[in-house]
Amino acid sequence: MLPDLPFDPSHLLIDGKWRAPARTLDLTNPSDGSHLAQIARGNAQDVDAAVAAAQAALAGEWGKKTAAERGRILARLGQLVLQNVDLLTELETLDVGKPVTQARADAVALARYCEFYGGAADKVHGQTIPYLEGYTVYTLREPHGVTGHIVPWNYPMQIIGRSVGAALAMGNACVLKPAEDACLTALMFAHLAQEAGLPDGALNVVPGLGAEAGAALSAHPDVQHLSFTGSVATGASVQIAAGANVVPVTLELGGKSPQIVFEDADIDAALPFLVNAGLQNAGQTCSASSRILVHHSLFDEVATRMAAAYNSKRIGPAGGDPDIGPLISARQKDRVSGFLEQAADLPVLAKAEVPDGVPSGHYVPACLFGPVAADHPLAQQEVFGPVQVIIPFETEDEAVSIANSTEFGLVASIWTANGARQMRLAKRLKSGQVFINNYGAGGGVELPFGGVAKSGHGREKGFEALFGFSTLKTVAAFHG
Ligand code: NAD
Repeated sequence: MLPDLPFDPSHLLIDGKWRAPARTLDLTNPSDGSHLAQIARGNAQDVDAAVAAAQAALAGEWGKKTAAERGRILARLGQLVLQNVDLLTELETLDVGKPVTQARADAVALARYCEFYGGAADKVHGQTIPYLEGYTVYTLREPHGVTGHIVPWNYPMQIIGRSVGAALAMGNACVLKPAEDACLTALMFAHLAQEAGLPDGALNVVPGLGAEAGAALSAHPDVQHLSFTGSVATGASVQIAAGANVVPVTLELGGKSPQIVFEDADIDAALPFLVNAGLQNAGQTCSASSRILVHHSLFDEVATRMAAAYNSKRIGPAGGDPDIGPLISARQKDRVSGFLEQAADLPVLAKAEVPDGVPSGHYVPACLFGPVAADHPLAQQEVFGPVQVIIPFETEDEAVSIANSTEFGLVASIWTANGARQMRLAKRLKSGQVFINNYGAGGGVELPFGGVAKSGHGREKGFEALFGFSTLKTVAAFHG
């Protein structure tokens, strides 16, 4: 059952007003399959209205705010998020099936995004450029205008924080399309933004199906920038739709991220990262580490210790704060189960089973396979579930070649005490992020994040996001 909410979860937020939609969708609790709420099934007309409201906000009160004023609103919003961490955590646990501790971390991160981008809003500026005699040349950083944000269900709060937070800081007006499988924290965030004093129309929320509201937003001629996080196939279709309007797109897509464990690695330090980076959020993480590349001399030790860690993991309903909760939907469960069937020929190192008595939610066992050939489909394709493979290697060159052998390039991590090797591999790995003797570095907002190859392009987080959510105008004055 949902807690009492200060808004109607079946409504859309357009131009500062909560509106009833023409149609609704059922939202279910992944932990037990029960009905959670009705949510809006926003359509193309709703997207039109939201884009028009965003344009009006830019022409009106929101567009007139100074950078410092925008920063203050975001800072207040961050405070309100912190004051509502319990409610946001509860909503995410119910809606995403995310274990309480992990949902709480996302809510705290959302507050941190608002704090960071609130503080940064008035610190991004153009430059003066020395040029020909008689000229004064400078650049202006300006917002794109209306920005569209298509957000998936796996980390709604983190992804809204990093994209909407940065877009608002730079003075854009946003239309947010949360995922049909999880949109409650997006709505709560928008409610808190109103409380924080964000003018009407600066943030509009249109929940709905990807093929309807999402496609309408991607193809909208009055949107000036799109931020998409999700699958490769959908990201490509968003880019094609936006391309027809010559609209820039930031794509944060999937990964098959490796951790490479060399013979001189500190295994005690590595072990929690090797396991948890694969199992966090039941493996439904774009930056999940689903491939563990291990020097052959360490294979037995790493396999045995990772298997022991798997066997200690608790699987169960998200509200009980297990290590691993359910997958988001029956569709995702079927997808992951399909991968596990394909893996029938692989050696199983550990299988953390779903305990008896767990309600009928979307659970799958957590599985560790190894040794697995680097070209096996399970070592190449994104599973998006609690599944990891261990791949042995002999030499550094072989490790790099395996690490770079998928179509993705999101995150890679190296575990070695050899400083020269650290520097070499940081350059040689095909990846948007390389972590040395850690994985993820705590995911701080300060660190720019994004992919190469099929993992996407563009960067969010850090100051890079502020450049991405703005455009540069060059002004050259001739004065003789
Ligand atoms: P998806 O990419 O289809 O959905 C992500 C978002 O895009 C949702 O808001 C959805 O409504 C929207 N969307 C869907 N179709 C659209 C369209 N035609 N135009 C515009 N927007 C559209 O992902 P999914 O179907 O929820 O999950 C499928 C697979 O995608 C997963 O198994 C996983 O591999 C991957 N995925 C990756 C991430 C990530 O963070 N990289 C997140 C979610 C899913």
